[in-house]
Amino acid sequence: MSSAQPTPVAVAHGDGIGPEIMDATLQILEAAGANLEVRPVRLGKAVYEEGVPSGIDASAWDVMRETGVLLKAPITTPRGGGYKSLNVTLRKTLGLFANVRPSVAYHPFVKTLHPSMNVLVIRENEEDLYAGIEHRQTQEVTQCLKLITRPGSEKIVRYAFEEARAQGRKRVTALVKDNIMKITDGLFAQVFEEVAAEYPDIEHDQMIIDIGAARLADTPEAFDVVVTSNLYGDIVSDITAQLTGSVGLAGSANVGEHVSLFEAIHGSAPDIAGQGIANPSGLLLGSVMMLQHLGLGDVAERVHNAWLTTIEDGVHTGDIYDASVSQERVNTTGFTEAVVARLGQEPKKLAPARYGQQPAPRVKFDLKATHETKELLGVDVFADWSEGDRNPDVLAERLNAVAAPFRLQVITNRGVKVWPQGMPETFKTDHWRCRFMRDDGEPVERRAVVDLQARLVDAGVDVIKTENLYRFAGVQGFSQAQGQ
Ligand code: NAD
Repeated sequence: MSSAQPTPVAVAHGDGIGPEIMDATLQILEAAGANLEVRPVRLGKAVYEEGVPSGIDASAWDVMRETGVLLKAPITTPRGGGYKSLNVTLRKTLGLFANVRPSVAYHPFVKTLHPSMNVLVIRENEEDLYAGIEHRQTQEVTQCLKLITRPGSEKIVRYAFEEARAQGRKRVTALVKDNIMKITDGLFAQVFEEVAAEYPDIEHDQMIIDIGAARLADTPEAFDVVVTSNLYGDIVSDITAQLTGSVGLAGSANVGEHVSLFEAIHGSAPDIAGQGIANPSGLLLGSVMMLQHLGLGDVAERVHNAWLTTIEDGVHTGDIYDASVSQERVNTTGFTEAVVARLGQEPKKLAPARYGQQPAPRVKFDLKATHETKELLGVDVFADWSEGDRNPDVLAERLNAVAAPFRLQVITNRGVKVWPQGMPETFKTDHWRCRFMRDDGEPVERRAVVDLQARLVDAGVDVIKTENLYRFAGVQGFSQAQGQ
């Protein structure tokens, strides 16, 4: 049972069906003996409409900081411009680095093609292409920066192994694209292997994201825990949720080192708000993840098993009611009472939940700083250029005239080598990457790249950006041009 001291949790009742499903959830948690001190916070539509662009009442931050957990009902994002996504603000401001989403089939009570699937998708939540660093650079070209960091990768991978261990799961699979993105996804893959070595009790493997996603969609029952970076995880977690046939029943966690957020994955369902017919299951399963996170595994197990028993007894709300398997159609209150009445019971057909003896996953990290030698070898200068019929020989001549002490090594267009000895068939945009290094490959002074840029600008080259070329501990920290 829970400790004598109540555990404080911040609670946002949300919009639409939010308050109905939150009341149902809290009622079940209380009946299960969760002993929580509920501290309400205001988020959502009303706060937006008071003119707060984030939709988060200023007083909510302190409450979240003090409690370390937020149980959040879905909110309605008002239509029209000027409103910031509340979920993105919470994720970025609170450093919620891990999105944890279990995708579980409840066959035969909820229809699915994959009756035995039970996949836990753990998605990195803060970096990758979602850092929001985008630029238009030329008439034709835009870019988005993909940032993969060692500490970010280490946190998410370690969390995946901790969660696997806490839940008694057997294998963690990383999804990467390191055959193409050798430096960024290569770092994620390398960190995955390093961290995996510290968890010999858990199997691990890596798959390339394209074939991995295809296999997940085809045979999700073959996967256990999946860990991946932000964009891949965004896509893959939606695929797995959909495959269960029960998106409306799924909960999720957004975990940070200081604060963690637990919720349903569905929205505020304004179409059925106030009718008392909403299914509280998604939020309830989100709260089960919260209890496990708080180290209240015994209560988490009791709530989860009572819920599974209710589903298996065919007591269903309208959204999942199916005359061929359901026994009784209930509203929110009826469903809540059915779960409470089954506290202490375990399901007979569905696999029972087991959290009782398991530790909460560890979310504090002892990250090691890296101090490798770093030498500057040259610079990639990106130029906006469409003169001379876009003939790279013309551009090369102009660049080489001012290159010394560097020499122009290669010019690429969208990553493909076009000089020297490019192919006439290669399509060329107005965006050129021009690589300058010394012929002997020796390091240069920082000042040398700045001086080069000045000479190029004076020679009429439209320099749009530069990327320094470094060697770290003797290893080249930049990709080779395709065809080089
Ligand atoms: P939705 O998930 O709210 O609803 C989609 C459909 O599923 C509707 O027909 C709805 O009635 C039904 N449904 C959803 N949850 C249900 C439940 N618990 N019980 C029974 N039926 C349920 O998606 P939407 O209509 O696209 O979005 C509505 C609002 O929710 C929007 O303002 C959106 O921005 C917001 N939203 C919030 C969150 C969040 O707070 N985390 C997530 C997604 C959407």
